[in-house]
Amino acid sequence: MKVTDHIRQSKSTLFSFEILPPLKGKSIQSIYDGIDPLLEFGPKFINVTYHREEFIYMERENGLLEKIAIRKRPGTVGICAAIVNKYNIDAVPHLICGGFSREETENALIDLQFLGIDNVLALRGDPIKTEPNFRPSKDGHAFAKELIDQITEMNEGKYLMEDVNLEPTDFCIGTAGYPEKHFEAMNLSTDLMHLKSKVDAGAEYIVTQMFFDNSKYFAFVDACREIGIKVPIIPGLKPIKSLNHISFLPKFFHIDYPEALSTELLKCKTNKDVEAVGVEWGIHQSKELKAKGVPCIHYYTMSNSSSVRAIAKEIF
Ligand code: FAD
Repeated sequence: MKVTDHIRQSKSTLFSFEILPPLKGKSIQSIYDGIDPLLEFGPKFINVTYHREEFIYMERENGLLEKIAIRKRPGTVGICAAIVNKYNIDAVPHLICGGFSREETENALIDLQFLGIDNVLALRGDPIKTEPNFRPSKDGHAFAKELIDQITEMNEGKYLMEDVNLEPTDFCIGTAGYPEKHFEAMNLSTDLMHLKSKVDAGAEYIVTQMFFDNSKYFAFVDACREIGIKVPIIPGLKPIKSLNHISFLPKFFHIDYPEALSTELLKCKTNKDVEAVGVEWGIHQSKELKAKGVPCIHYYTMSNSSSVRAIAKEIF
């Protein structure tokens, strides 16, 4: 079932969450171990992230370095199929531009259609870790909007082969939004303009980047509505879990902590202290968002569901 249908049919705020494929060589059991504790909250859909290749350098016998591309977390499509099969819950694979030509994108979408997957979250994707900027693949998309155009065309029966009308796909397309602005955008209004172009191209709902200050989400929703973005905007929340997260999350995701939260984090001495603050803050954020009637709260588990479970127990 489509994410938008789940939202339409529900009278209250839905619960959903996002997981990462395990590192290559780890079993899928780690995925089930992360999902099982969250089943009692009735997730309507589970997102599975997509991780593109990274480059590593291997020293050869002659002393020269060889550049090798590896994917550390493959398996997004297989995990989605496993989730649908094992739990009968809708899975939402993330589909990215990076690392895909248009034809590879088309074939990936055909695989998803054959597996009975109804939803995709269409993203540009992050740059390769060792590269400063995002570079599209040969014959690939430079922005998420172009990927959405391609999916919309397939939904209309237009594949890459010209002049042939084929069986249309029927994907519900989600896209990403940034209450604190995407870090590459010149300013919030150009970022919103690009977001609107993704919605106009066919995105039917938005999932936000994590934020810790609800007022930023509410202002973002207002700004979206003002420029005519009418689709559901699902807030994304991430419980802070470790001392390392304190600086990692703002640095990596380009977000700020509000002062009330940073004051509490400064008092933390151990990971356990941080986890407790993260859960309290997550409960506080979730309660307010739910009271305001958001369509769904989407939690980033980052492969660890214990904090999300502690929050969900108080909310759902
Ligand atoms: P876009 O919408 O293409 O925007 C990228 C930047 O380009 C923005 O600054 C935008 O303002 C600007 N822009 C857009 N269109 C144009 C244009 N025509 N001309 C000039 N500038 C333009 N990354 C992964 O690798 N895998 C994942 O699974 C993943 N999941 C995510 C899930 C969510 C909910 C979110 C919020 C992010 C996720 N990301 C993931 C990270 C995301 O891929 C990065 O933030 C990436 O840098 C931007 O992706 P996007 O889809 O928002 O890009």
